[in-house]
Amino acid sequence: MKVMKFGGTSVQDPEHIRNVVSIIKAASEKTEVAVVLSAMKGITDRLIHCASLAEKGDEGLSVEIAAIYEQEKAAFMELVGEEKAQSEEAEALASLESMLKDLKEILQGVKMVRECSPRSLDLIMSFGEQMNNTVAAACMRSLGLKAEYVDARELILTDSSYGEAKVCYKQSYQNIRNRLSSIHGIGVITGFIGANEEGVTTTLGRNGSDFTASIVAAATGSDMVEIWTDVDGVLSADPKCVKNAYVIPEISYLEASELSYFGAEVIHPYTMIPALDRDIPIVIKNTMNPSAPGTVIARHIKKHNRPITGIASIKNVALINVEGNGMTGTPGIASKVFRALAEAGVNVIMISQASSEHSISIVFRALQAPAALEALNQELQNEVETKRIEKFNIRENLEIVSVIGDNMVGSPGIAGRIFSALGEAGINVLSIAQGSSERSISFLIDRRFLDKALNTVHDEFLL
Ligand code: ADP
Ligand code: ASP
Ligand code: MG
Repeated sequence: MKVMKFGGTSVQDPEHIRNVVSIIKAASEKTEVAVVLSAMKGITDRLIHCASLAEKGDEGLSVEIAAIYEQEKAAFMELVGEEKAQSEEAEALASLESMLKDLKEILQGVKMVRECSPRSLDLIMSFGEQMNNTVAAACMRSLGLKAEYVDARELILTDSSYGEAKVCYKQSYQNIRNRLSSIHGIGVITGFIGANEEGVTTTLGRNGSDFTASIVAAATGSDMVEIWTDVDGVLSADPKCVKNAYVIPEISYLEASELSYFGAEVIHPYTMIPALDRDIPIVIKNTMNPSAPGTVIARHIKKHNRPITGIASIKNVALINVEGNGMTGTPGIASKVFRALAEAGVNVIMISQASSEHSISIVFRALQAPAALEALNQELQNEVETKRIEKFNIRENLEIVSVIGDNMVGSPGIAGRIFSALGEAGINVLSIAQGSSERSISFLIDRRFLDKALNTVHDEFLL
């Protein structure tokens, strides 16, 4: 069996959905298949926008809901046809309409109370996947495939960390096996969403449909997970920033995890967890260019002799320096800093500490800057007042660039080459971190230098 996941761009409109169905059809003639689909491109963002309009009581809300309704319904009618929509597919059409009605009611509720909790936002976002999978399953049936819509909330059990819920693997695997074994034909499973023990809707984090596909593959003991997207595979850098980026034919699970963790959104970082656990290869393919071989992500890959494998970047981060003479040789400051940040829900992406112990640099997403500053001001008020620590200053408009590769392990001189090349290009580096795995070196730069930094490092090692 194999699991095939198609992302938002691949299912953005009826023409793309038809193309996807033809890819699924060809695959299903050779092997048993389960399908995981994202929402149509842009729909999740628009649902979030609706939630914020509702919260503000903005009158534009009904226009936006109506536009989403029109887009989904028009796709259904075009793919299924007027006649079938009233006969064989009447049930699917009714369920699409009831989803749209529910969505509208929930948003009206948010508008009434002028508040959208993370729990409500997860429910609102879940409609993108619900609607698109309903449309696509009906389309598959009308093109002669046996296909059944499967709501992942019946499969994927999570905790209640709305926005990025943690998966309870054991129970989810059991649910997936039970549910899929009752299906004759192809299960068309909603990506991105799950439910907690009370059955309340949760989401797995933006881009989470890749993760869903990998969970389904691990549960069913599939031979392979295919992630179908809008590029030819995992590239040596984001092709939107680096013109010379090229497709990497094979990459290890660990390298793929590092690349995606540091911003290569071609695959969600958690996708590698269930796949690695069950040794299931992940193949990245291009929906618009299916004959291209793509990238295989696996445990054992062919050795190559390039010093690094790829480069990635995380945009829009902020830096806080915790520094002061009173920090040297004083145990416990780091623990206070990180406890305060964790309690405030701030996710630390990168840390570096100079060996003089005089300062610690902490990097997190810019959105979390106010929470981070408040948490540190409270926790370290005493140290600041007694001048053991200087007042915190935040630096924004920064980017993290990470250079990644298994070949970097135990290989001297890589860092030297990176920073000489950046120096020659006139790019100032604000902070540097290397994990002791030696599989990645990350550095922080001003946003203005992002494209130049990516291209400089790419040309230095990979041209
Ligand atoms: P989907 O909607 O299929 O899930 P995404 O937009 O999430 O697709 O991911 C695909 C995008 O990831 C590409 O269009 C590309 O711009 C971006 N990307 C960033 N880094 C890389 C990389 N190293 N290799 C390939 N694509 C990358
Ligand atoms: N639709 C969700 C998102 O836009 C999940 C996904 O596409 O993987 O983040
Ligand atoms: Mg994606």
